[in-house]
Amino acid sequence: MANQSIYDLIIIGAGPGGLTTALYASRADHSVLLLDRGIYGGNLNNTADIANYPGFESIKGADLAKKMYQSATQFGAEYAYGNVTKVEADGKLFRVSTDMDEVFQARTVVIATGSTHRNLDVPGEEKYAGRGVSYCAVCDGNFFKGQPLMVVGGGDSAVEEGTYLAGLASSVNVLVRKDKVRAQALLMAQAKKHDNMAFTYQTSVSEIVGDGQKVTGVKVKNSATGQEQTLPCAGVFIYVGSVPMTQPFANLGILDEAGWVKTDARLATAVPGIFAIGDVRETPLRQIATAVGDGALASQSVHQYLDANFS
Ligand code: NAP
Repeated sequence: MANQSIYDLIIIGAGPGGLTTALYASRADHSVLLLDRGIYGGNLNNTADIANYPGFESIKGADLAKKMYQSATQFGAEYAYGNVTKVEADGKLFRVSTDMDEVFQARTVVIATGSTHRNLDVPGEEKYAGRGVSYCAVCDGNFFKGQPLMVVGGGDSAVEEGTYLAGLASSVNVLVRKDKVRAQALLMAQAKKHDNMAFTYQTSVSEIVGDGQKVTGVKVKNSATGQEQTLPCAGVFIYVGSVPMTQPFANLGILDEAGWVKTDARLATAVPGIFAIGDVRETPLRQIATAVGDGALASQSVHQYLDANFS
């Protein structure tokens, strides 16, 4: 069903970047529609405590999401549910389609769909998903109070979320495939305050095992010694990186080989009028602060594009 309105800007994704673009663009008097297929805030909702976003010594992810949403909609930006499946050029406009057969029209589009977790791709992962295998400590950590847990990965997410889990579980063993982590030193320092948290290096998971109903352990192999063993646990939290959520934009010719959106310094893609911000784009750093910065810059690029093409 076609929506009759033509917006100056449709933002796809209501994470920190999308919310910031909505704030800036609506404050500049542009008509803005913000579409998201879930709750506003994106991955903020999967983060327990945030201590590296300026202005807050510590704030819960969901609380920051709410504050950003309130701020983003105060100047009239519209927010609607929409699982976007396609963006197509239609003359000087863009048609944004959703899986509910809605079609929205806009003069510009900002892609802010972010990224989601990468799977470990080992036997048992799919079978025990939701029955001991998790990708979200904040969502599922409480189910494992007082029980032994494994965390897989060696980046910021593994260490930060492992630290959160250490406050709930009897023990947390972080399985790192290399001989060192790549997480920030500050996050490692916080992890080391927990006596029940350990790091096991040069260790890869080959299978997640269970009793048919729930996880009971992980099969691991030490890359230095070749030794294989099964480590018992009640849950496995997987943090082995992220993949971009760009499937709806595959037709536009704006993605790199790994699927991230390519942008220039002003966050324009190869399609004039389409911009991309935050975690979804090819970028060396993925943080709340960088997504917010992108959101502000993109709104200015949108403004200039509208000025040049529609006034
Ligand atoms: P990441 O930085 O890509 O790290 C992924 C980790 O998973 C790496 O240690 C990698 O090992 C490991 N890995 C990948 N495939 C694996 C496999 N098959 N088996 C075992 N380990 C595997 O991902 P991330 O930690 O999710 O972070 C994503 C982005 O968000 C980063 O830019 C990060 O800085 C940011 N972030 C920031 C914060 C914060 O500032 N507080 C918190 C969370 C995330 P190798 O090292 O061997 O490749």
